[in-house]
Amino acid sequence: MEMSKQFYPNYSYSPKKIMLTKLIFPPQWIPTQPYLSLPALTAYLRANNCDIEQIDVNVSFYDNLLSKNGLADYLDRARSKFQELETRKELSPELQKQYAALCSSILFGDYVINGVEDAKKILKSKEDFYDIEKLFKAFKILELDLKLASSAYYPSNLTFHSYDMRHSCRSSKAVLEAINDRKGNLFIEYFEKCTLPEVLKGNPGLIGISIINISQLIPGLTLAALIKKASPGIHINIGGSVFTRLINEISKNKELFSVFDSVIVHEGETALLKLISHLENKFNIRDIPNLIYKDGSEIKINRLSSGGEDINSLPTPCFDGLPLDKYLSPELVIPILSSRGCYWNRCTFCDHGYGYSGKYRPREVDLLFNDIKTLKDKYNTSYFTFQDEGLAPKMMGALSDKIIGNKLDISWLADSRFEPSFSGEIGKKLSLAGCKMLYFGLESANERVLKCMDKGIQKENVIRICKHCKDAGIWAHLFLIFGFPTETHKEARETMDFILANNEMIRSMSFGSFQLTRHSKVYENPSLFHVSKIFHDDEIDLSLWYDCEVSEGLSKKETEEVIQEFYDKLAHKYVDLPIWSNLDREHLFLYIAHYKRSVNKVTDLSILIRNIQKRKKTVQIPRKNSDFHPILNEGIFIGAFNFNLARIIHSGLSGNIPGNISNEKVNVLFDIDNNRIFTISDLAKSIISKSNGGSTVSEIIDHIKEKYNIPYNEAKSKCESFLNGLIEKNIVSIK
Ligand code: SF4
Repeated sequence: MEMSKQFYPNYSYSPKKIMLTKLIFPPQWIPTQPYLSLPALTAYLRANNCDIEQIDVNVSFYDNLLSKNGLADYLDRARSKFQELETRKELSPELQKQYAALCSSILFGDYVINGVEDAKKILKSKEDFYDIEKLFKAFKILELDLKLASSAYYPSNLTFHSYDMRHSCRSSKAVLEAINDRKGNLFIEYFEKCTLPEVLKGNPGLIGISIINISQLIPGLTLAALIKKASPGIHINIGGSVFTRLINEISKNKELFSVFDSVIVHEGETALLKLISHLENKFNIRDIPNLIYKDGSEIKINRLSSGGEDINSLPTPCFDGLPLDKYLSPELVIPILSSRGCYWNRCTFCDHGYGYSGKYRPREVDLLFNDIKTLKDKYNTSYFTFQDEGLAPKMMGALSDKIIGNKLDISWLADSRFEPSFSGEIGKKLSLAGCKMLYFGLESANERVLKCMDKGIQKENVIRICKHCKDAGIWAHLFLIFGFPTETHKEARETMDFILANNEMIRSMSFGSFQLTRHSKVYENPSLFHVSKIFHDDEIDLSLWYDCEVSEGLSKKETEEVIQEFYDKLAHKYVDLPIWSNLDREHLFLYIAHYKRSVNKVTDLSILIRNIQKRKKTVQIPRKNSDFHPILNEGIFIGAFNFNLARIIHSGLSGNIPGNISNEKVNVLFDIDNNRIFTISDLAKSIISKSNGGSTVSEIIDHIKEKYNIPYNEAKSKCESFLNGLIEKNIVSIK
């Protein structure tokens, strides 16, 4: 606690008449917790007497879109586009895809708009969030909300993890087209209406936009361009790891500098402070480290700082001003960093270290403990996620001693490495200090592949450490990579078998195929790793990774097959796979913390799935008599369309697009949960429309008999066989 005196008691924040700087975190990023870049910069700049406001545009954007009013604008737009297509005589293959996307607004627009507020409440409720069935249902509605909004800007597609447009975000030319594409860019109107007024308020002199993921590139630069247009005098700076990895390309690209004025690469604290001084006429722009800027018609690159920030002089991150109640989580989960850089920094596929300026720098344990305590008290939360590439066991042990000694009641997760020094004693200590979950990068269980990756891991340590985690009640999550250059089928299978044989200790994992990242050792020495071809494309100048071919080992297609095989095997072995493979990191962490029953027992989430399975086993038996009330299950919708929607969707899925199709009236039944669509007759539609829980089967039979003027026995047999079929397909239930 003493340590905080270094920063806070001397520092009373009272903005004078100095330039206002606003820091912005743009969409698209998963809005489950605040991202650390803005709070870290805000704390540092405020401690240096700058007038700073931080705005998480990403969370505000999602909060608006996942609301009744916010979605209404998108829904209106989607419906008017749908009506326009509906009046056509025929649809081209491209319009068929758009039609299929827009039909969602007709089929389940009302369902989503009426359910979205409750769904959002479930994600924020300290009770409902932990009911996995309710949570999955809420996610379904929120995902449909994003799908509906996307359809209004077809072919753009927004999810919680990505934003894609017809323009590639890996090409500067395409990005510059995207930021002016009002028809396809989902953000322009929103930013104009909701973001610009907030950003321009108070006449800031500098706006810093943090872009830490490629999915933020188009929205982030769209916002930059709108600010530039609205107020050309504001200096716009782009920071974050994306442009850091693209230094060479950015510094040659004058067109990009038409939407911003400068870029800060690597670590930003000192550079941003000096940029503020420069804009207040107190500092020469040429002396600002890590800055790339436009000087007349030229782009200049200043000296790159070799050492990075002194991590022990940085203040505790400051989350003030962020809308902490808007994050999609029942608890505020605070991100924290115990170090900068990776102390291993050798893995040949990885370029994480490239984002930092200097070597690995851990923060002193006392300072780190003080950060956690300060943040816990200030923001009234007990949940922390370490954002480091890897916490060393020694650092985790020392921090745990402080947490235990001071009886600080917190829950946390961290990334770690399979270090020989990770002992059973350390495991127990971490658990006592509130560690609920550890992430480890194993990547492969084959010794030869591990050596090629330079992971510095011995297999015997992996088992031993996972066992220590299990004994200490810590959930161990592993990262795996399939298809590393030269990896054979046999070696990939060794990884699969290893996981499946140790599933009691290895509780969950994330896995994917090898990606050739821009600054990795494999990229820099392809022949050493038998990478025979790298697909460079001058147009794709902003890519952080490349497609490649290997002369030895699994091909791309074979890797995908291995991944599918592994996933299928996991589904048999891990009952709780639907939970850990679907929940985002912070949400899974909260589940693990919530359902933990004792300090030395790993949380068992499989019970939640078994309970659902038990409930579902109470299968409904179709009845012969006609006194029951059929009711359409939730997530089932019927609609009438002027084109054959079921055919369009099926041909889209099979890839057999038939060419232009003509106007043809059809009724469809759509099952959201199982993604099924059926064409149904008018008579079937009438039966389903009456299956609302209010009519008995006898009443429905009478209705059909009258409406279609058919004999009673025919109406009875049609109704009963159709309804029994729907009950078997889990489309209709009995009330
Ligand atoms: S994969 Fe992890 S441990 Fe390896 S160099 Fe990258 S950040 Fe460090």
